[in-house]
Amino acid sequence: MNNPMELINKDINYIWHPFTQMKDYETEAPLIIDRGKGLYIWDIEGNKYIDAISSWWVNVLGHSHPRLNDAIKRQLEKIEHVLLAGFSHVPAIELAEKLVQITPKELTKVFYSDNGSTAVEVALKMAYQYCQQSGKTKKEKFVALKNSYHGDTIGAVSVGGVDVYHKIYKPMLFEVFQAESPYCYRCPMGKQKETCDIECLGSVEGIFKKHHGEIAGIIVEPLIQAAGGMIIYPAEYLKRLKKLCEEYGVLLIDDEVAMGFGRTGKMFAFEHAQIAPDLVCLAKGITGGYLPLAVTMATDEIYRAFYDDYEKLKTFFHGHSFTGNPLAASVAVENLKIFEEEKIIESLQPKIEVLSKNLEKFRELNCVGDIRQTGMVAAVEIVKNRQTKEPYKFEERIGHKIYKQALKRGAILRPLGSVIYFMPPYVITEDEIEQLVDIAVDSVKSALCRSS
Ligand SMILES: *Cc1c(COP(=O)(O)O)cnc(C)c1O
Repeated sequence: MNNPMELINKDINYIWHPFTQMKDYETEAPLIIDRGKGLYIWDIEGNKYIDAISSWWVNVLGHSHPRLNDAIKRQLEKIEHVLLAGFSHVPAIELAEKLVQITPKELTKVFYSDNGSTAVEVALKMAYQYCQQSGKTKKEKFVALKNSYHGDTIGAVSVGGVDVYHKIYKPMLFEVFQAESPYCYRCPMGKQKETCDIECLGSVEGIFKKHHGEIAGIIVEPLIQAAGGMIIYPAEYLKRLKKLCEEYGVLLIDDEVAMGFGRTGKMFAFEHAQIAPDLVCLAKGITGGYLPLAVTMATDEIYRAFYDDYEKLKTFFHGHSFTGNPLAASVAVENLKIFEEEKIIESLQPKIEVLSKNLEKFRELNCVGDIRQTGMVAAVEIVKNRQTKEPYKFEERIGHKIYKQALKRGAILRPLGSVIYFMPPYVITEDEIEQLVDIAVDSVKSALCRSS
């Protein structure tokens, strides 16, 4: 099975890939990866690439980290999996304790599942059932934002707001109130970021004012609407949203699946707004990107609404086979130990600055409409016309052209439409940040020359 051509043929024969138009593989083979170390991954032909997207946003401390590898090996010698209903295990207990310690005091309980979408499903069901069991039985609906992405299961898609991914499923979904997206570059209110007063939050307020009696919760991606195009918005939005939620008795569900564990330069993105959400969804980086594991954290008030005699049927009837898997939990515990011992958050600050300085290189390109960054996430929005902000058409696949150019130059970017972004593992050095941005600038130049 070592002949690359043979492997590619078998791959295409047998695997239906996620988020992939399989017909594309007629002309473009999938990249078959053999190994990884730190910032880099190698394909089966020995080509080396900078993993600029942390293997779908999950990796935080680099690939094949010796301590994380050891943590899994140690746990593997004990037990690989055990159910979490009626049973427990040391890694799950240690991880839950740690998570409660590093989050605001309001968040007291940890509910395990196994991926970001399930963490969201859990949060939605908890919010709903909490209302049902605490005398707020009319509160049955949710608010979500345009351009939001919360996962691919039906509940998560219902609160999604990216038409390309979500529109076709509309008839299958439950109805939500959709508020405007805080998309500063393309402000729905026609304001400028530098002088605005977060007018876009008025859209949420309008919905709350009219419908708060029917609304259980609002779900948001904190600070960055990631899959929607790395849309970065000010922490002040989140701060004021929390106030609105309190005012109108609406639960704030904070989907930290992509931004948790240091991405924004703080351990959790909500820390920028100095707030405590009612429910917090965690996944992706929790295991350092090693294994699927997810957490939904809840406040004591929510937990209490489920706590009663068995026959009252207030139990939270939810749990996946691999909920709180011991291998995943053990690597998550080690991940958090490394964050603490190696002061990972502090170590990010100079890298964030270097990234910011290097991003300036994009300004000279006349196809760059917007440059945005929060912490270790940076994005560049490519436009056809800088003055009018006219976007490239979907069919032009500008992002994909840039992706192919970057691949040739040894970096894996995975643009979202016409938005190129950087979301590298935190082991990236200052020199490597410069190298990565240079590759991206060159790639944009050559991709756009060809297409025009
Ligand atoms: C990726 C993502 C999810 C879904 O996580 P999966 O593990 O892919 O199911 C949910 N919310 C946000 C914000 C995400 O970025």
